[in-house]
Amino acid sequence: MHPPVVLSIGGSDPSAGAGIQADLLTLASLGVHGCTAITALTVQDSVNVQCFSLVPPAECLQQAQAIMDDIPVRVIKIGMLGSAQMAAALADWLEQYPDIPVVLDPVMAAGGGTSLALAGLRETLIHELLPKITILTPNAPEALLLAAVPDLESAAAWLNQHGATWVLITGGHGDTPELENRLYHHGRQQQMYVQQWLPQHYHGSGCTLASAIAAGLAKGIELQQAVQEALDFTHAALRQAYPLGRGQYFPRRFYQREATQDAHEQG
Ligand code: PLP
Repeated sequence: MHPPVVLSIGGSDPSAGAGIQADLLTLASLGVHGCTAITALTVQDSVNVQCFSLVPPAECLQQAQAIMDDIPVRVIKIGMLGSAQMAAALADWLEQYPDIPVVLDPVMAAGGGTSLALAGLRETLIHELLPKITILTPNAPEALLLAAVPDLESAAAWLNQHGATWVLITGGHGDTPELENRLYHHGRQQQMYVQQWLPQHYHGSGCTLASAIAAGLAKGIELQQAVQEALDFTHAALRQAYPLGRGQYFPRRFYQREATQDAHEQG
């Protein structure tokens, strides 16, 4: 028996906090084999992204196709796309795989603020890629930016309407006593997952969450349960995050499970 397989399509982060390196660490920690197709090479440290170069879309898809033709991929997870051309090429390519769930973390900027999206990406992502997406995992600012509406409920409804079957908005309004993550389907909130706020800034929390959801789906876990488990996993990895450089903390994807269990039981 081999582990379930997720294909992660995204950018490389040399610090291994975010990007495909984060995806591989998360998937490995959850017992899932991760394959990759690289969209972009970023130059970054724990503080910010300095610059990036994009892989030509045809080359990225060649990587993905080689994997799909050989290995039984259960779920496709997409992170940094970089350009409208990459989003459009990927949307076309996904036509071949209507039965494979797709998790999209709509990466628009690095944690340090540098944009990771060239002009036109938002529009193409919405109009071409969103209809192919099983679950979209924006944080609150990304959801507002993508939908271009002022509040999260309208943003979720808008993103559902434009094709994302499920929308998980993380981070809530930022001014609530606890962190509120909301899952929407058909424009309606299906579930709210409440977590404690954590004190640091973390590098790659969104990548960790989206990969953990992909891992759950690849194991055959039902979507709402996969979201719950992925949020728990991410929270635990962030609780035990560690500083490495001058900037954001790094999630500990191979965290001590017992310690987390205790923390959980104490609420
Ligand atoms: N993917 C790449 C290649 C990145 O460099 C980043 C951020 O720097 C991200 C994704 C998004 O990271 P996060 O999970 O912190 O949103």
